[in-house]
Amino acid sequence: MKLLLTCEHGGNEVPPAYRALFHGASDVLRGHRGWDPGAMSLFRDLEPLADAAFASTTTRLLVELNRSLHHPALFSRFTKDLPKAVRVQVLEAHYRPHREAIEATTAYWTKAKEQVMHVAVHTFTPVLDGEVRTLDIGLLYDPARAAEKRWAERWRAAMLDIDPALEVRMNRPYLGKADGLPTHLRRLHRTRYAGIELEVNQGHLRNGRFPQGLCAVIRTGLMRSLEHA
Ligand SMILES: [Zn+2]
Repeated sequence: MKLLLTCEHGGNEVPPAYRALFHGASDVLRGHRGWDPGAMSLFRDLEPLADAAFASTTTRLLVELNRSLHHPALFSRFTKDLPKAVRVQVLEAHYRPHREAIEATTAYWTKAKEQVMHVAVHTFTPVLDGEVRTLDIGLLYDPARAAEKRWAERWRAAMLDIDPALEVRMNRPYLGKADGLPTHLRRLHRTRYAGIELEVNQGHLRNGRFPQGLCAVIRTGLMRSLEHA
């Protein structure tokens, strides 16, 4: 078994070549639409457990790494009207390297008959369009994939075992089967691949980081969930 760790929204950096597009947009870049605040620190915390780890720190407003090439939200309002040649350049420099490294690693392992367990680290804003999200942690998987469902249930149970006060929900605040990196990898690998998107509530952030205690619950829970996989 191999643990693959990824982070698609780890930062809000704008590559120098595209800075003019984001003139006057620093508030949007700083907010949850520009990146997943806290995701990178959580990724670093989990990284020692992983057999391979890939993170991007470029803003999702340049190109959305957690969407497929055909998805209408692949490019944001800042980039969707760029000439096609420029959008192709963006994909070549800032989309394909991350996606293809992950695809290649997954393909290499499945070919070697390893079971790939993929955790994509994300965070979510506690209030979206006026809706308050009370959950602390969401585990997103495809209900049609039994191995993913069992893994998510083990992970949730292990976290609640340590901290019963946590609100851990399945396929909230988003659905695991929606378009995303794991959905893409599921299409490529009918077997030997299980993917979970970990979503942690940004309301827990203190000075841009999640508390040690919460990180430890997530990390220990993940370790225990893999022991019996
Ligand atoms: Zn995200």
